[in-house]
Amino acid sequence: MQLIDTHTHLDFSQFDEDRKEVINRAQNSDIAAVLNIGTCLSSSRKSLMLSQHFDDFMYTTVGVHPHNAGDIDFHKASEILYDLSKADRVKAIGEIGLDYYYDNSPHQQQREMFIELLELAKEVQLPVVIHSREAPQETMEILKQHAAPDNGGIMHCFAGDINMAEQALDLNFYIAVNGIITFNNAHKLRETISRVPLDRLLIETDCPYLTPTPYRGQRNEPAYVRQVAEKLAEIKGVTTEQIAARTTDTAREFMQIKGE
Ligand SMILES: [Zn+2]
Repeated sequence: MQLIDTHTHLDFSQFDEDRKEVINRAQNSDIAAVLNIGTCLSSSRKSLMLSQHFDDFMYTTVGVHPHNAGDIDFHKASEILYDLSKADRVKAIGEIGLDYYYDNSPHQQQREMFIELLELAKEVQLPVVIHSREAPQETMEILKQHAAPDNGGIMHCFAGDINMAEQALDLNFYIAVNGIITFNNAHKLRETISRVPLDRLLIETDCPYLTPTPYRGQRNEPAYVRQVAEKLAEIKGVTTEQIAARTTDTAREFMQIKGE
């Protein structure tokens, strides 16, 4: 069985002390690869460097998270990301999107940067990784206008309803689930996910955040994507091996990398 964790933040300082051990643990737990996600310019650079260093295991995206939209010059950011995106290890532009829950930066700036970076993704012909929290309608409206269905993307940490999922599928996007589906109170999300075709689903950890049951309270890491796969198997009424085979194929196709 091989699993791919499609959303990690292994460049974050939470992993500075033991990054190598975390990666070893993942590799010893059947995790074949991870897609590490850029969240600002310095995180994107660090992630690219790490993906070149751990080149049998880590791929990267480059992007600016909506939390960081407030204090950035979009055009300059887009130019820097354009240059970074030319590296082989870069598989998508992200994470980008809207976050009206934490409200760390003004909505108008979030929207403008989101659009700017969707246009960048189109220009460099890469898929996108979308972060959307408490802004389902605006996210989908902007995606309909500015995303390129030919390149597609991932709705990371999906928390929407079936209507949002269907709109995303129409745009040729994948739906990614993480530790949230293992949480007791996530009945509604599990019900929604049960209705999304298995070949449109991906698994992720979003580590160091959103640690799945039974490890809640600890730092999350890629090895725990297995708990997400097990819960998804339960939701879909198939075996964990079937989930692994299908989501790993999908992730490889998304990243355009070959399996063994
Ligand atoms: Zn993330």
